[in-house]
Amino acid sequence: MAYEAVLGLEVHIQLDTRSKLFCACPNEFAGEPNTRVCPVCLGLPGALPVLNEAAVESVARLGLALGATVHATSVFARKNYFYPDMPKNYQISQYDRPIVTGGHLDIGAPGAPRLVPITRVHLEEDTGKSLHPEVEGDRDETRLDFNRAGVPLAEMVSEPALSTPDDAFAYLTALRRLVRWLGISDGDMEKGSLRCDANVSIRPVGSTAFGTRCEIKNLNSIAGVRNAVAAEIARQTALVESGGTVIQSTLLWDQDKERLQVMRTKEQAHDYRYFPEPDLPPCTLEESVRARLIATAPELPLARAVRFEKEHGLSTYDAGLLNESRDLAEYFEETVAAGAAAKAAANWIGNDVLRTMKERGEDVAAFRGVVPPTRLAALCRLVADGTLSSRLAKDLFVVLLAEPGDPAALAKHHGLVQESDAGALAAIAEAVLDANPGVVAEFLGGKEKSLTFLVGQLMKETKGRAQPQLAQQLLRDALARRAPAQG
Ligand SMILES: [Zn+2]
Repeated sequence: MAYEAVLGLEVHIQLDTRSKLFCACPNEFAGEPNTRVCPVCLGLPGALPVLNEAAVESVARLGLALGATVHATSVFARKNYFYPDMPKNYQISQYDRPIVTGGHLDIGAPGAPRLVPITRVHLEEDTGKSLHPEVEGDRDETRLDFNRAGVPLAEMVSEPALSTPDDAFAYLTALRRLVRWLGISDGDMEKGSLRCDANVSIRPVGSTAFGTRCEIKNLNSIAGVRNAVAAEIARQTALVESGGTVIQSTLLWDQDKERLQVMRTKEQAHDYRYFPEPDLPPCTLEESVRARLIATAPELPLARAVRFEKEHGLSTYDAGLLNESRDLAEYFEETVAAGAAAKAAANWIGNDVLRTMKERGEDVAAFRGVVPPTRLAALCRLVADGTLSSRLAKDLFVVLLAEPGDPAALAKHHGLVQESDAGALAAIAEAVLDANPGVVAEFLGGKEKSLTFLVGQLMKETKGRAQPQLAQQLLRDALARRAPAQG
């Protein structure tokens, strides 16, 4: 019997607010342990939470981008469980009335949507962190850091609508791009800004019933999610095919050993004894706030890629690449607005700009500080009007990275301007022919290809500065003069 997998993903997204969810402590990553704490986020008795509205707006923005229902009223609930890095023994979360329900995440390509239905997105607080130092003599200790306690998390739950490890990969890639695009999270899985739990079950192909599912916890890289899901599908399939049954459980993925281990059998929702949080009123989203969020919602990446194809005549590939990040898409459009041809701008950005950013470990904002769109556009125009060959343009690009100033002036200063003085070039063409009598004879004997070699020689003589069409024409003229008279 053949089996197919059914996957659902729960992703915790750390929101990039200035302060924590229920107190004024700064929301920052890492740092000296326990330096950003107060009675509220430590969970001391009697401390009262006050809701950070910026976190509510972030979840609402995500909901709008998913085309979901963003509720005017939602309710915080206590989720009760013991956890060493959560001293108050409950987490403030949302249960039956989350901020966002429904909607879809598009994991397709530009013009080829693939909508994954979303169940809900709710807001909750993060816990602290247990550290197990592997220092000699310290191995039996657990240390607690509460800097992360109370950091706002959006938990986004998908419907079980994915079926392959690659689907899971595409889902997380699309979600990471979206949260960065919306500016609500840095989306960095390695820092724990996105943490994914995957629910995996299998069923006979053609069946509509769901099999027993297992949950893989705390996956912290997108590739890790793909590998862990593949391993779990293989484990369940082998188990069922050998006559066994899948027991509902929670698994941990060991990234280093690429292995799954069973952590515990799964608790049910009623084990958490959810009840409405008595210290917080219902969470409301004012109509005026909703209107502002709708009015300021950005054009989304895939829609923008489709527009780039139509408006700028780009290939689907180029349009998709430029829309991997909102900063990059904006950099492209500003370069075009500053007078560059769209195709040329897309080529420069897709190749030299992205490569340079990677080499220098810079993001778009930093690169923009060195080569703003107006400078890149000026470079494109110098190629378009024949001042620079594409080879010289590459040299000028390197100059632009190192020196400030106007690209046309820099090209001149560094002698990168194309030689289009026919008199000077004609003399060099003659010299090239004199130096290569054998090749000249071959050409005159009918070997048309020899011209390429001669053009190459002329380019070498002029250090690549000869205007190529002119160089070729001058060489042809000089060769014609050396042809034996006909008749
Ligand atoms: Zn605090």
